[in-house]
Amino acid sequence: MIVEGAVVDVDGARRAYVRFRKGQVVEVGSPGTDSSRGKEHRVHGIVTPRPVNSHTHLGDAAAAREPPHAGVAEIVGPGGLKFRLLAERSAVEKEHAMRSALERMVREGVGAVVDFREEGVPGVAQLRRASAGLPIEVRALGRPTARPIVPGELSRLLRIADGIGVSSAREETFETRNRLADRAHRMGKWFALHASEEVREKPDEYMRPRPDLLVHLTKASPDDLETVAKTHVPVAVCLRSNALFGRSPDLAAFARAGVRLLIGSDNAMLNAPSIFRETEFAYLAGRWLGHPVDAQYLARAAYVEPWLWLDQPGRARIAPGMTGTPLAFRLPTEDPAYQLVTRATAQLIVPTGAERGE
Ligand SMILES: [Zn+2]
Repeated sequence: MIVEGAVVDVDGARRAYVRFRKGQVVEVGSPGTDSSRGKEHRVHGIVTPRPVNSHTHLGDAAAAREPPHAGVAEIVGPGGLKFRLLAERSAVEKEHAMRSALERMVREGVGAVVDFREEGVPGVAQLRRASAGLPIEVRALGRPTARPIVPGELSRLLRIADGIGVSSAREETFETRNRLADRAHRMGKWFALHASEEVREKPDEYMRPRPDLLVHLTKASPDDLETVAKTHVPVAVCLRSNALFGRSPDLAAFARAGVRLLIGSDNAMLNAPSIFRETEFAYLAGRWLGHPVDAQYLARAAYVEPWLWLDQPGRARIAPGMTGTPLAFRLPTEDPAYQLVTRATAQLIVPTGAERGE
């Protein structure tokens, strides 16, 4: 089959057709030049790499009630509502909730998810069981429970996790962060943390030791953003989660500073893990609050930049023989990045023979 209209990928947006065979790309070119001579089924739409949900806490999907009107600390901070609920739920309940959340992401075409999994080694083991057999790549960043760090726990954690994801620089000592980052990096794994979410922290605090991923930077100043941009450390933003707590980071400032942007849906107890909702909200919030952000910057953050960060550039470019299977949407093709960011939904995904993902 052929999807003709536009492609949005690492090279930006352009008019093109894409010919598929069993979900794989076999031909790409200018509209009207394909070799099928009109014999193949043809759909008008947009082809793009699969989106990546670059920041989640899927474990708290087990708590889906309307969140109370309270601050970050009371709801998701250490010892807050979230951690009380996590402690109350059984491992099986949490695994079921995580699997449902992952299945929803699969239905929305998500190719990979980067999760901050709390609760130490058992927490990561639950996520591994929950995602078994699903066609979505799960990067699990775990968090050891003992302070000071117990070497045995950290070793066991790093054996099953893809790295470490901690709460924030303010909540861990420099020694702890250094030790976690050092051990993770020695094993070729990641060290990631939340930064400047509730209050502004100085880049010096969260950039040492050097992280592989930052989350939020909601309160970062333009100078902070420039400092981070120069290091090329990517930043995952979660605007619906910020909005729930009355915060509205200016993504146009992130773009001006040249920050490598990623997008995540954050706590599953607060928001459904949908990248479609996340990009639409981010775009509208920018227009609404008077700091409009370029749709191309948001599209890149959801569909392209994460594959470069995950060191899979072959998934970021729509080309014959590309790695994995891209997504096709039955969408208007004018201003394709804008269509993707504001109008994409699961119902508009065109079956290309790869409905079960990879
Ligand atoms: Zn988070």
